[in-house]
Amino acid sequence: MKIIDIHTHSSSGNNEYLELKSFFHKSYIPETEFFSVGIHPWHAEKAVTNTLTDELRPKAHKAFAIGECGLDKSSSCSFDKQREVFEAQIKISEDLKKPLIIHAVKTYPDIIALHKKHQPRQSWIIHGFRGNMQTMKACTDHGIYLSYGALLMRGIETHETVFKNTPANLLFLETDESNISIRKIYERAAYIKGIAFDDMVTQINQNFKTIHHNAY
Ligand SMILES: [Zn+2]
Repeated sequence: MKIIDIHTHSSSGNNEYLELKSFFHKSYIPETEFFSVGIHPWHAEKAVTNTLTDELRPKAHKAFAIGECGLDKSSSCSFDKQREVFEAQIKISEDLKKPLIIHAVKTYPDIIALHKKHQPRQSWIIHGFRGNMQTMKACTDHGIYLSYGALLMRGIETHETVFKNTPANLLFLETDESNISIRKIYERAAYIKGIAFDDMVTQINQNFKTIHHNAY
């Protein structure tokens, strides 16, 4: 069974790992990649309708998931534009039957509101989740998956408590841009959850099968 990294921007070259590599819509994507592709909210300003259809859709067809895409209140890009571009990608995720990888900064309530509005059939995964207990509950009550990463390594008690309480069937782990190995993040995550490393690997493989299955 492979150790799944649900969101990364680089390949480790280690074949113990299954890495879902995230590409921006303008990137060249080699044939051999296992990947997600999306228009990041930082790039939303320039994304016009034909960017979506001409640049994103052909790549999206070959992707495992759509994203990262989402909403970011720390971005200089207009929020209305970000929402428009995000909703267009929600539509692509539903049309192509592929999970959605979400980047959310100070916008968890907006993401939940859009989940209510669109009632998607595809799985939504908020990557790099760092919300509080209440936000975690609100997301998971809607069946939104939460992916945790290198922040778990810093010994932040409040964050660890939120992670510990996140339902196991809605969890993912990731490296994102960190240099810490995904194995180390699994070890830490298993320790915080109080379960065996292998059980953590098995659980996340199960979750991965579920989002894949939902996609068909
Ligand atoms: Zn990322």
